[in-house]
Amino acid sequence: MFKNARLRLAALNVLVFGLLLLLLGFAAYGIFSSHIYSGADAELRHDEDLALAQLRLEGYAPTMAFGNVLKAIPNEYRALLFSPAGSVLETSDTNCNLIVTFYTCQDYPVPPTSKDGLHTVLQQNSRAGAAWQPGDAFTMSTIGDLRTDHFQREPYRVLTFSVAVDGTVNSIFQFGRTVAGEESALAELRILLFFGGALGLLLAAVASLFLADRALVPISQAFARQRQFTADASHELRTPLALIRANAEMLYRHESTATSPDGELVGEIIRETEHLNRMVGDLLTLARADTESLKLISKPLDFRNLVSGVHEDLQTIATSRGISTNVSLDGRVMVLGDETRLRQLLLILLDNALKYTDSGGEVKVSVRKEDGRARLVVSDTGIGIPPKDLPHIFERFYRVDRAREHESGGTGLGLAIARWIVQAHHGSIKVDSESGRGSRFQVDLPTL
Ligand code: ADP
Repeated sequence: MFKNARLRLAALNVLVFGLLLLLLGFAAYGIFSSHIYSGADAELRHDEDLALAQLRLEGYAPTMAFGNVLKAIPNEYRALLFSPAGSVLETSDTNCNLIVTFYTCQDYPVPPTSKDGLHTVLQQNSRAGAAWQPGDAFTMSTIGDLRTDHFQREPYRVLTFSVAVDGTVNSIFQFGRTVAGEESALAELRILLFFGGALGLLLAAVASLFLADRALVPISQAFARQRQFTADASHELRTPLALIRANAEMLYRHESTATSPDGELVGEIIRETEHLNRMVGDLLTLARADTESLKLISKPLDFRNLVSGVHEDLQTIATSRGISTNVSLDGRVMVLGDETRLRQLLLILLDNALKYTDSGGEVKVSVRKEDGRARLVVSDTGIGIPPKDLPHIFERFYRVDRAREHESGGTGLGLAIARWIVQAHHGSIKVDSESGRGSRFQVDLPTL
């Protein structure tokens, strides 16, 4: 019973821990990856400043300035200079293979980032108008676009910026700096987070199971005490109940009481004691089943004999209630089971069928071998069970119609006991029912 609770508790712990790990992992990775490029970005911005300073120094002559700009840029950088039309004016890389211009180098595949970058920069700045002429008013401004891109499988941090003079784009620069080191650090972080997370989850699962075990100890102890108490109380109640009943019966048999008005009251005491006795007996059975002190005494038996025996026993009650019965026994059906308990199961199902069927109705019992199992079916044409109650009828003290409970004489524990008996025999029990049309209980047990 606590096995499921333990697993559920542990699973919940692992789920919460996993979500926290995931959240932390994403946060750590996000912060790390947004900071890891800051060094490269600062350097690229610095180079942009250098390039602009150089251009200002030279009075803005891009083609000439570029050579000097390149001189100011460290060797590990690559740089391109485009015209506004996209043609490469100058490059630090003679193969034009850093970022391929999308106007001139059309034979090459165009890396999307650089194409987008160029588009963005061009759209932001391009304006139809006369190109800058020496001697024109010279107000220089730039708009940059910074991103990471892969070129020839090598990761680059790329800064694309255009230089506009009096609002007209005159040149576009693109600087790239390899960020292979940063990328591999990020890849290592990903691996670390993945395996660290997996290991964390594994440890969390083990720790959760251990903690769930510890947390459940007091609960299961309290539960066991509760069960023991129910078993002890039921047991202790039996003797005084038997005494009350015996005394009341003696009183009833006494001639003067039987004929006096008190006779009615004594009769009521006997009936109530009888009901209480049954309930205490049922409670004791369930409490002992819970504490696992009720052991089955199994032996091979023919299920048909058991059914016809119980049917015979109940025949008188059925006749007195005006209910017809029908038994169908089909071939030998051998099971390994506890005769007393299986008899009790049959009594519960048949007694219910008779209890909840009105006069003129019919109760059918059949036993046969089906799919290698012994199948017992008890069906009636009685009041049936409403669909909303069906999932609960095997619960302890559950009754569909509480108003009728006293009149029926039931304890509300019969089907709970029936289910326990079936489960103890490694079988299954199910019910189909329709209000006003009857019920059908089916029990499947392993055969020999
Ligand atoms: P009880 O002692 O009240 O019969 P059970 O545990 O045997 O308790 O059954 C639980 C409830 O299921 C009953 O109160 C009754 O409402 C319903 N029930 C059981 N068997 C039948 C049946 N054959 N037809 C209709 N209702 C049934």
